[in-house]
Amino acid sequence: MTRLRIAEIFGPTIQGEGALIGEPTVFVRTGGCDYRCSWCDSLHAVDTAYRHDWAAMTTDAVWSRVRGLSGGRPLTVSLSGGNPAIQDFAPLIALGRTEGYRFACETQGSIAKPWFSELDTLVLSPKPPSSGETVDWAAFDACLLAAGNGPKTVMKIVIFDERDYAWARAAADRYPALPLYLQPGNETVDPTQPVDPQTLSDRLLWLVEKVTADGWFTPRVLPQLHVLLWGNKRGV
Ligand code: SF4
Repeated sequence: MTRLRIAEIFGPTIQGEGALIGEPTVFVRTGGCDYRCSWCDSLHAVDTAYRHDWAAMTTDAVWSRVRGLSGGRPLTVSLSGGNPAIQDFAPLIALGRTEGYRFACETQGSIAKPWFSELDTLVLSPKPPSSGETVDWAAFDACLLAAGNGPKTVMKIVIFDERDYAWARAAADRYPALPLYLQPGNETVDPTQPVDPQTLSDRLLWLVEKVTADGWFTPRVLPQLHVLLWGNKRGV
């Protein structure tokens, strides 16, 4: 039987970013990622040093946990990571859908999976230069192809600096039909360290002023709501 490698399952809470910001959500965070972004805020789901904390769970066990956390009341289940696209979520999505749950997935767009077409929302989050990673646009295109007309597919880009901003503009030009969400990067990713609300606000303001000054009116600029509310605390 297929086992899913799970770093944590938590909620209900709200989605803190992107197209579903504010949406009541249970998160299924997978363990393992094919990237290693310099500013990753989920290293406990990426770094293999944490692999002994990742549970090998059957689809039924994951579903039972999601159902329990949500009290059997349908809501959005967000598949995140790590990179959830490493694993096979088709059975979980099929199970949840029979009970009216909705599924979203957030991935960098490096691995395409057939189950993308069964999602309600697919958030592709290509990583800008400050991450230290290089986007394989052919792989990204394969993700779009796999999703087809199934989910609402959007692009979300984190911006840390001018170079990221220019890169995001080029990515937007490449995919003009994809709704685009921008968010300022959070440089404090250590969960034991407090975040400074003024710094978060200043970075958001910087990004808002840039897009408006440039007359770039297609993206939506959003904060990371969960960071404003809970800092870098895990499992909320
Ligand atoms: Fe972390 Fe996401 Fe980058 Fe993976 S793709 S290393 S989870 S920020």
